[in-house]
Amino acid sequence: MAWGGGFGPPMGGGGRPGAPVGSLPFGGIPSELQAGVDSLLADEPDHGPPHRKFSQIPDETERRPLGLWQLLVQYPRLLVAGGILVVVVALATQAGPELTGIAINDGMTPHHPRLWFVGAMAGLYLGFVGITALAQRWQVQATGRLAAGVMHDLRIRVFTHIQRLSLDYFTTEKAGVVMTRMTSDIENLQQLLQNGLAQFAIQALTMIVITVILFAKDVRLAFITVVLIVPILTVLSLWFRVVSERGYLRVRDGIADVLTDLSESLHGVRVVTAHNRQRHNVLHHRNVLGEYRDANDYTAHVNAVYAPSTQLIGVLGQAALLAIGGDMVVHHSLSIGTLVAFFLYLNRFFQPIQLLVQQYNTFQQGQASVVKLRTLLETEPAVPEKPGAEVLPPIEGEIVFERVSFGYDPEAPVLHDVDLRIAPGETVAFVGPTGAGKSTLAKLITRFYDPTAGRVLIDGHDLRDVTLSSLRRQLGVVPQEPFLFAGTIGENIGFARPGATDAELGEAVDRVGLTDLVARLPDGLDTVVHERGQALSAGERQLIALARAFLAHPRVLVLDEATSNLDLQSETQIEHALDALLEERTAVLIAHRLSTAMRADRIVVVDDGRVVEVGTHDELSARGGRYARMYDVWMRQSDHRPRA
Ligand code: ADP
Repeated sequence: MAWGGGFGPPMGGGGRPGAPVGSLPFGGIPSELQAGVDSLLADEPDHGPPHRKFSQIPDETERRPLGLWQLLVQYPRLLVAGGILVVVVALATQAGPELTGIAINDGMTPHHPRLWFVGAMAGLYLGFVGITALAQRWQVQATGRLAAGVMHDLRIRVFTHIQRLSLDYFTTEKAGVVMTRMTSDIENLQQLLQNGLAQFAIQALTMIVITVILFAKDVRLAFITVVLIVPILTVLSLWFRVVSERGYLRVRDGIADVLTDLSESLHGVRVVTAHNRQRHNVLHHRNVLGEYRDANDYTAHVNAVYAPSTQLIGVLGQAALLAIGGDMVVHHSLSIGTLVAFFLYLNRFFQPIQLLVQQYNTFQQGQASVVKLRTLLETEPAVPEKPGAEVLPPIEGEIVFERVSFGYDPEAPVLHDVDLRIAPGETVAFVGPTGAGKSTLAKLITRFYDPTAGRVLIDGHDLRDVTLSSLRRQLGVVPQEPFLFAGTIGENIGFARPGATDAELGEAVDRVGLTDLVARLPDGLDTVVHERGQALSAGERQLIALARAFLAHPRVLVLDEATSNLDLQSETQIEHALDALLEERTAVLIAHRLSTAMRADRIVVVDDGRVVEVGTHDELSARGGRYARMYDVWMRQSDHRPRA
């Protein structure tokens, strides 16, 4: 056992330089465990450095339309090896009946029985079986590796593409559909590549080889059997192809619906529970599952008709062969060995047809998935990066809307002719009724969407002329409902700046007033966030999001104020955090509370997609317009007193 001392550093010394010592949570790896850890690390698979860097503009290979062949030729050696092995398998399998025929004809003659010859043939047969088995083993290995490689590349390509797509895609496309593309469709392809394609090739080759052998043996007999059997089989197979295709399409739609329903009820579990919708959800899911089951029933039914029918035709063919071939043997125009070989080959002739049709389904499904994935990969981001876009130099933070109009649907404009200038370092609050277009204005600043008409400029640069990454690096966004990722609180705060030092992290925590919370948590910043931070309060999640924005040091900050009712203490805390955050940077606040709006340098009143008033709180209150009326109503509500 390697548990003795001497393998690792002394306890408390830590395996890594700079690791915390003594009473701190990580006291180093105990020396008696070091050897175990080392051996675990040695076994850790090395996936190598990622060979693709993310870029907003797809490269040459990524722009080629997705196709099965294009995926396969990325691995030429495995492809060639797989191809050769497929031919070996298809040929070697067919040696058996031929050897049996030879053994009967030349070794089992009534006058000269040659036992050694029969034995030799049996030995050869065994040899070919061995070759087939070996070739099959290598072929499965080669195609398996080919499939794994192709699937890996494809998953990366699709995921990278999804990262590139703009927000509009995720609002118009159901999340379940995107998930189905990534799971079920990719899995379909995997099945096809792993064994489907190779089987398809083997069976097709087998049929060709057998047909050639049959005709070489006896043209008449081959012709009769082929003429008798093949047309019926062809008609039956064509029917099966059509109906099974229909069935599998239903199955595919069914599984997409099941996944969509499942993901929706998982994501909405809180709302479901709160509104007592469990019973209704179960009923709904049963309906969706019922559809899926019906589709599966249908394909099972079709298979149940097809498989026995082809077998029946096979038996009829053999009966015909027995009658005609038997007659030929009696009249000495055919040897018994050849007839036996014929029987054996004919038997093998049906299997590939059945398998081919089944493989054809896998092929069909795989192709359908390729088409779906191709459509996804060909979806252009609605907010594309211009080829040759320049890198946005460090900005002061001036934002200008120049006659901007915009509609999510170009036919239904949401913003009309907006002109607005926000000076560097200024804090501006957007106020107005729900649906007025405040968030939409903010989304244009971060270039989540492009205006339909007019321009949005940042320090004089049209947002469409600069690279997306250089723009977003200088922008910070705090959404209404902050999203926490799986990981620790520290990682969540450092999200926008993974290289931040502990001191910088500490400063961000301090400045937004998270110090108390972090001190209360069992592992401080290393406390793991579960389920998107549902165990934290809304106010705490908001503070974490503010710390995240603070750490990123953006020049321009866009902040959608949380609408959830925060308790008074959280609200005060967040107001303090905002003071720290808004210092010395341009900030756009989508204010849902007038108390927040009043803290801004200027207030922009938005109504029905138009900027109707702009000014300071005092100016607008004195003007007696929209803002003054909103303020009056708000003041009359006794529990709202400006705390600013
Ligand atoms: P506000 O932030 O002022 O409450 P929004 O800017 O969110 O208003 O919305 C303005 C209008 O645009 C609303 O009528 C809203 O329904 C519509 N809208 C918002 N987001 C989308 C979207 N992704 N697709 C289509 N319409 C949208």
